[in-house]
Order: sequence, then structure tokens, then C-alpha cells
Amino acid sequence: MTRPTLEEYFLGICDSVSKRGTCDRKLVGAVIVRDKMILSTGYNGSPRGMPHCSDVGCEIEGDHCIRTTHAEANALIQAARHGIKIDKAELFCTMVPCYSCAKLLVNAGICKVTAKEDYHASEKTKKLFKSVFIPLKICKS
Ligand SMILES: [Zn+2]
Ligand SMILES: [Zn+2]
Repeated sequence: MTRPTLEEYFLGICDSVSKRGTCDRKLVGAVIVRDKMILSTGYNGSPRGMPHCSDVGCEIEGDHCIRTTHAEANALIQAARHGIKIDKAELFCTMVPCYSCAKLLVNAGICKVTAKEDYHASEKTKKLFKSVFIPLKICKS
């Protein structure tokens, strides 16, 4: 038996969480962790009470779907709803956060980001994290 590392464990949970996503264009999962403990989770989904992409189709603008709130943002929102302090916590996610989510993560006090995969348009996120000294680890490119 090989026991998973903490990184493998949290990234595996991100994968499980992503399966609850409601936009089939991209299933994304995120987990916020401090001191080896999960504080919050999030996946891509429509605003509460609104129909899902998987039921009514995507809301396409340009070449991407704009209906969903992203996994990383939803993980922050879940912590806010439950009154969980996430300052100086770290984020694990299935892919490098988009620029909008990256800005939210910076302001929320996330101090480290570990992504399972890179994202084709992640240059702005990488530059931002570098500028504010948030380490970004990408496990496979
Ligand atoms: Zn969609
Ligand atoms: Zn995002």
C-alpha cells in the first residue's frame, strides 16, 4: 500500500469536487487548506437558483461560457458563508486559476497555490502571483 502524499490527497479531492461541476465545458474543483485540514471546497456552477449549463446549455460569450461562478471563487464564497477564516491558507485546484479568480485569491489572503494542470491562458495569473510572492506550483504542464 502506498500512502498518498498530502499534495496527492488534496489534488485527488479537487478531482472529486470537480465532478459536481455543472458546466461540461470544463469541470474544475478547488480546495482551501490550512495546516493539512480542508476549510472549504468549490466547483464551477451557476448562481444559486439559476439553471445549470448541463440542463439548458452554456451561456457563450466570445469563446467561453460565462454562466458559472468558478470553483476557486466558490471555495472563497463557501468559506464566507460559513464564517471560516481563510487568511494565510493555501489553495489546491485542478487547473491554474483564471486572472479574475487569481485576483480574488490574492485579496482573500491565500498564500500558496498548487494546481494539477496548467491553463492555456494563465500568463496573467502567473505574473500576478509572482509579483505578490504567492508560490504557484503546477504539477503537470
Ligand atoms: Zn457552461
Ligand atoms: Zn476563475
